[in-house]
Amino acid sequence: MTDLATDYLGLDALLSAEEIAWRDTVRGFVRDRIRPNIIQWYEKAVFPAEIVPEMGRLGLLGTHVSGYGCPGRSAVEYGLAALELEAGDSGLRTFVSVQGSLVMSAIAKFGTETQKQRWLPPMAAGELIGCFGLTEPEAGSDPASMTTMARRDGDGWVINGAKRWIGLASIADLAVIWARTEDGIRGFLVPTDTPGFTATPIEPKLAMRASIQCDITLAGVRVPADAILPGAAGLRGPFSCLNEARYGITWGAMGAARDAYEAALAYALDRRQFGQPIASFQLTQEKLVDMVLEIGKGLLVALHIGRMKDAGTLLPEQISFGKLNNVREAIAICREARTLLGGNGITLDHSPLRHANNLESVRTYEGTDEVHTLIMGRAITGIPAFS
Ligand SMILES: Cc1cc2nc3c(=O)[nH]c(=O)nc-3n(C[C@H](O)[C@H](O)[C@H](O)COP(=O)(O)OP(=O)(O)OC[C@H]3O[C@@H](n4cnc5c(N)ncnc54)[C@H](O)[C@@H]3O)c2cc1C
Repeated sequence: MTDLATDYLGLDALLSAEEIAWRDTVRGFVRDRIRPNIIQWYEKAVFPAEIVPEMGRLGLLGTHVSGYGCPGRSAVEYGLAALELEAGDSGLRTFVSVQGSLVMSAIAKFGTETQKQRWLPPMAAGELIGCFGLTEPEAGSDPASMTTMARRDGDGWVINGAKRWIGLASIADLAVIWARTEDGIRGFLVPTDTPGFTATPIEPKLAMRASIQCDITLAGVRVPADAILPGAAGLRGPFSCLNEARYGITWGAMGAARDAYEAALAYALDRRQFGQPIASFQLTQEKLVDMVLEIGKGLLVALHIGRMKDAGTLLPEQISFGKLNNVREAIAICREARTLLGGNGITLDHSPLRHANNLESVRTYEGTDEVHTLIMGRAITGIPAFS
């Protein structure tokens, strides 16, 4: 493949030498540790918990959290890691998002000094796993309607309720649980071995198979007074964590798209029909060119949003632009890439349909396509149209 085939716009020129070196390090990890195993993990619906400490050593956990043993890298560097991980599989990028962008960032932004010292270093090292419980069986796009309750009891709290679709909950050590209190919605740090806490994996799934999502039941879960995250009051707390994760998805989705495109290109150059490579047909070239166009645009969007995040000027509404556009285009690219693989494209030997299936759930979590459309619509018109 020529350079134009892999980086048509020469976007590497927009990255520093340090950013390229970091990107290549993560790419190497994906090549060595994820690619050789992902078919098996996906087919058997296995999350490879054994590679979590390796991810910690590499600096992939809490990548852009500073202090407390965390890597303290830039937003762009975090995005580059998401890009490379999702080129391997969305399930692995999702784990890094949940651990770093949701759980560790909740503790780093809203936790006490004691909470940060207790939880962040082992989570950065991959010795402990966290989960983030916001969604409920009856409260998805509208988390304000949550019914999980935390009531004061003596000098502590008792939490009752249910959460759904909570990533990693069945293997997590710590759950950040968002619950309604008499003072509004608050976050609680709940060790998962607390009596009354149960997490059950949701199975079988057609997407995100190399990852775990769970139903959580909270039945009289008693936590001490200092389990509350003091800095987060109301939905602004969880929303600010979701913004971190949505930002990472803007990059990650383009990783899945790039991998699908590269698989389709390699196949099209090799596969012969009508006596010639299918890459020689105009219709094939149009498909590949359309992929290159959208990947180039998507990466530019991700990088621009990342630079704004590092500069401290990024608005949440601008993250919606990246998440909505890049996931939507990535799914279209993966599906189109699958067509170039013909029948072979529906086997797990090739990545595009696996990526497309994963992206079905990426469309839905961290704000559905519709929710991000409504966020952008409100930003443009000044009129909220959520209800
Ligand atoms: C793989 C995966 C991992 C996840 N991980 C986590 C996690 O770790 N922690 C966590 O808390 N949650 C997690 N989630 C939950 C996720 O955030 C929710 O699925 C998402 O918010 C949507 O909620 P819902 O599934 O209940 O769908 P619903 O909210 O019921 O939506 C169903 C449909 O209705 C549409 N809709 C809803 N409201 C409107 C409206 N006002 N206007 C137009 N259309 C509307 C939606 O866009 C969607 O198309 C995960 C989900 C998945 C699939």
